[in-house]
Amino acid sequence: MSELDQVRDHLDQVNQDILKLINERAKLVQQIGDIKAKQSINRFDPVRERDMLDKITSSNDGPFENATIEHIFKEIFKASLELQEDDHRKALLVSRKKKPENTVIDINGANIGDGSVHFIMGPCAVEGYEQVASVAKAVKDKGLKLLRGGAFKPRTSPYDFQGLGLEGLQLLKRAADEHDLAVVSEIVNPAHIEKALDYVDVIQIGARNMQNFELLKAAGDVNKPVLLKRGLSATISEFINAAEYIISRGNENIILCERGIRTYEKATRNTLDISAVPVLKQETHLPVMVDVTHSTGRRDLLLPTAKAAIAIGADGVMAEVHPDPAVALSDSAQQMDIPTFNQFMEEIVDMSNRMK
Ligand code: PEP
Ligand code: MN
Repeated sequence: MSELDQVRDHLDQVNQDILKLINERAKLVQQIGDIKAKQSINRFDPVRERDMLDKITSSNDGPFENATIEHIFKEIFKASLELQEDDHRKALLVSRKKKPENTVIDINGANIGDGSVHFIMGPCAVEGYEQVASVAKAVKDKGLKLLRGGAFKPRTSPYDFQGLGLEGLQLLKRAADEHDLAVVSEIVNPAHIEKALDYVDVIQIGARNMQNFELLKAAGDVNKPVLLKRGLSATISEFINAAEYIISRGNENIILCERGIRTYEKATRNTLDISAVPVLKQETHLPVMVDVTHSTGRRDLLLPTAKAAIAIGADGVMAEVHPDPAVALSDSAQQMDIPTFNQFMEEIVDMSNRMK
């Protein structure tokens, strides 16, 4: 064997030794991560890192400079920390790693998450009995099972219509009961959750409250499905963690709802992050719906975005329907009137049939 080959052999052996040692080190770091998780201690500890680097460089006798050694070890530390974070993600209760099969939520006979497409339709806000009753009839006539309507409206301006509150929930429930529909309505105050249980079949948590942790905990403490909407500027990871707040209290009946996020684009009210649907379906076991109304803010885009949602694998579509959108007290530019809604449903059913 030539001298070069001999040295190369030796080098290969050293590489193997380093590999074994860094993986051995990684296992120790994982053990430390588990101990820290039990004690709720932060995983990243800069004081400990500095101490380790000092010990390493003080016994360094080259040929590498201390700065180079620090750089190399810092990379190893960083990779180990990322490993702990991966383990952490693996452990989330909403994750598919934790539960591989889909969560299916039976709401009034609609099995959300069962692979077929479901619809949540209704006005932006409950404005009166006649208004919700006419929409409820249209929704029922299309064979749908879920009626939406806001009673507590979290409006951007305090001077805009704030909703009818409890009276709104009562009107919505009356109209829904008359047509055998389930009620989906937003609750904004943790103290209202208990009372709302008498009127709603699904507690909606709106985009503006996605990180209202007290509200998430209160919704997690009750036995009622939750429709959790993505925050205005929330990352997918923040969205998933918001759902984790709910499930960690014992309520696993959560529907995630992509409703567009804030970007620089002005052509639509928000930017529908359509790829969030397959990402959420892969990362979590929860059903995922798409709200085409608030993501686009444009009536002409409701149908194409609903089709895109279905094509990409969403478990359902939410949209707003009002008997006379022009006089609606909120979101008048984007609600469908009843004939438009009928046409919308016909085209969607037609598309779903063609996909089968
Ligand atoms: C709603 O669905 O009524 C609503 C206010 O939507 P978001 O919370 O997504 O803005
Ligand atoms: Mn609205």
